[in-house]
Amino acid sequence: MDGVQDTPVNAEICGKYCGACPTYKRNFLARYGPGTLFCARGTSLATSKVKTMGCFCPACELFTEHSLVIGYFCAKK
Ligand code: SF4
Ligand code: SF4
Repeated sequence: MDGVQDTPVNAEICGKYCGACPTYKRNFLARYGPGTLFCARGTSLATSKVKTMGCFCPACELFTEHSLVIGYFCAKK
């Protein structure tokens, strides 16, 4: 299965999940690149280490479609 593509449609889907998740909000990830779609674009460029507090990726349709595992794509090294 191909990886998740960096497209506007996928970024909008991502926003429903990443945008609502506690890790995203508490670490102000909207302020840093790449903003969303971490599974395609890579980890957040937040200046301090992302403190993980729950991940909504497993509910995301792209997570299921692309057989992703675990989540926390914003924080992984
Ligand atoms: S799997 Fe996670 S990072 Fe990837 S699009 Fe879905 S919510 Fe965003
Ligand atoms: S990758 Fe997971 S933990 Fe990170 S912001 Fe998206 S839903 Fe939240």
